[in-house]
Amino acid sequence: MIEELIALKGKGTLCVHEGQMRVKDAGINTPLFNSSAFEYLDSEDRKYPRYFNTPNQEVVANKIAALENAEKGMVFGSGMAAISTVVFGLLNSGDHVIALNNLYGGTLDFLKKDFERFDLEYSILPENNISAMEALKRANTKMLYLESPSNPLLEIVDLEEIAHWAKSNGILTCIDNTFASPVLQNPLDWGIDIVLHSATKYIGGHSDICAGAVCTREELMKPITQAAHNFGGSLNPMMAHLMERSLKTLEIRMERASHNAHCIAQFLHEHSSIDQVYYPGLPSFKGHDIAKKQMSAFGAMLSFEINGDPIHFQKRLELICPVMSLGGVETTICSPALTSHRLLTKEKRLDFGIRDNLLRLSVGIENTEDLINDIEQALDFSK
Ligand code: PLP
Repeated sequence: MIEELIALKGKGTLCVHEGQMRVKDAGINTPLFNSSAFEYLDSEDRKYPRYFNTPNQEVVANKIAALENAEKGMVFGSGMAAISTVVFGLLNSGDHVIALNNLYGGTLDFLKKDFERFDLEYSILPENNISAMEALKRANTKMLYLESPSNPLLEIVDLEEIAHWAKSNGILTCIDNTFASPVLQNPLDWGIDIVLHSATKYIGGHSDICAGAVCTREELMKPITQAAHNFGGSLNPMMAHLMERSLKTLEIRMERASHNAHCIAQFLHEHSSIDQVYYPGLPSFKGHDIAKKQMSAFGAMLSFEINGDPIHFQKRLELICPVMSLGGVETTICSPALTSHRLLTKEKRLDFGIRDNLLRLSVGIENTEDLINDIEQALDFSK
């Protein structure tokens, strides 16, 4: 019944209202419950921050679960805490993971450095399609790990097709949905088993939170929760409270930022100093038709290869700031080779298609014209 009511509400309404706790005489917002100790004698549950069950943690987890159409949600102290807890919560030594070849650099580093130590195996797909998955599949393959759109080349995979293939092979599917956010894409609706977010990005949205989230069905959340208790990557009440505040504007931020990104992608696509633009909203982009099917808008991330010095270009920008993160209300830029993918060798980066002249733009909610003017003046290398 509750699920039916949630399904009837629009994303904007869920963002504002879902999960909210009203306390008499405490105003319209969920209060900040800044306690790490809770009385237990008259209560059935044992509330404790590292059990992920304190009021601010639960409120925000329920809101994200509603936005992802999930039975259960859980929030973490970072995106990597969410990713590592899911992996260690659901896999056992000897298990094998197939991973997409275009993933956030920290996730690739996690596979490379931590899997072997715990006797876990992984293979990176040479191409992101079913026949490549079929070729890498082993008897011990337990999980397929995805991003779509991916970081930093915005690669799109067909979630419905992949979920169907994985299910028929008894393989769990896990997707990092950070770039789309829960308002532009709901992978569970296409049959994916687990959705992760670095909530440091769009869910936080104001470049002031470090957090993560996981959404899945109850049966899978049980072992994840069990692992989370021991690994301890919990989120503090203040951050959970800020995250709830941020989520209220998520739909409207994503709408505006996606519109801006679309306009900037078109501008860059036609500019003579740009070699290549990676944006799912461009009809010429490889994954465009699939993105159109599974996303409600094409998102606010785009990447491009510049025909000129990428550092010089970033220094010439006046409004857009070069930073390490993404997903804020302000437009920011970064060079993946120097930031998110710096831990890979240059050779490995090139294998993944990440060249030194690649720049990744996280488009914010400023006025479109101002952003395009800033990019245009910085691209005028004759000045
Ligand atoms: N997933 C993606 C797509 C990311 O871009 C990042 C960080 O940049 C992460 C996961 C890791 O998130 P966090 O830095 O919150 O641990």
